[in-house]
Amino acid sequence: MPEPIVLPDFDSFGDETLKGLETPEEATAATQAVLRDDRNSGEPVIDDPGNNRVTLERGICREGSWYREAEVKELTGADEEAIAAAGSSSYKVFETLLLRGVRTVGDESMSRKLAAELLIGDREFLVMAVRRATFGNDLVFEELPCPYCKELIDLTVPLNAIPFTHLADPERTEFEVPLRRGATAVVRLPNGDDQAAVFAVKDGNEAKQDSEILGRCVLRIQHADGSSTRRPPATSLFMDDRQTILKFLAKTQPGPRYGDFSFVHDTCGTEVPLPISLAVLFRGM
Ligand SMILES: [Zn+2]
Repeated sequence: MPEPIVLPDFDSFGDETLKGLETPEEATAATQAVLRDDRNSGEPVIDDPGNNRVTLERGICREGSWYREAEVKELTGADEEAIAAAGSSSYKVFETLLLRGVRTVGDESMSRKLAAELLIGDREFLVMAVRRATFGNDLVFEELPCPYCKELIDLTVPLNAIPFTHLADPERTEFEVPLRRGATAVVRLPNGDDQAAVFAVKDGNEAKQDSEILGRCVLRIQHADGSSTRRPPATSLFMDDRQTILKFLAKTQPGPRYGDFSFVHDTCGTEVPLPISLAVLFRGM
């Protein structure tokens, strides 16, 4: 049941069910594998793991000031029922987790409007914080078959071992992307509202989904001759330039890179990709 893909880097998040994975949280931690941390460009900022507060990369802007502090809560049975009612759509499950698991961003209570305003990366980081508040910091895998040597692996993955990208300048909201023919695209990073628009592209046409993101996030094109086009239709952009812009948006978006997690299995010395899905984070929910 493939769900609409939001951006290339996020397509493994929430969509894959890893066969045979269970996450019992008895921390047996008989770890036969070592986690790689050299691929992380940074770690998430957790102010104090005990108090459910985190610091977002971008946050929200109110009257010229930025607010990045957020508070999440431990999910209850009522939340579990609401999440189950969201059905099998990973997008809707994700949205429900966000709306029910996040208490505040800055001084504001969580709402659909607020969730729509947050960068995709801040949303994904908040869902990680909700996971931590609900089930703790460790993802425990037992008897995970190594795809290379077939040995069964027990592995404990702390959430901060998942690669994480920071924004170089959190307050910068527009970026310049060099294109072919001396042109430059001025873009902004996709947020929850953009994610909802992509989800609403019903037929699952990935090119249309790309066009939706590009139509919203490309603010203008500056041409080599000095002229510029404001809000160009995404269908008028060259295919190569579209790919360049989409790659930039995916690479620059801050937050956890759930799909990029891997570890080295020391028995066979092989790097094993282990994309972390929403189902893994929330134990099959
Ligand atoms: Zn192996």
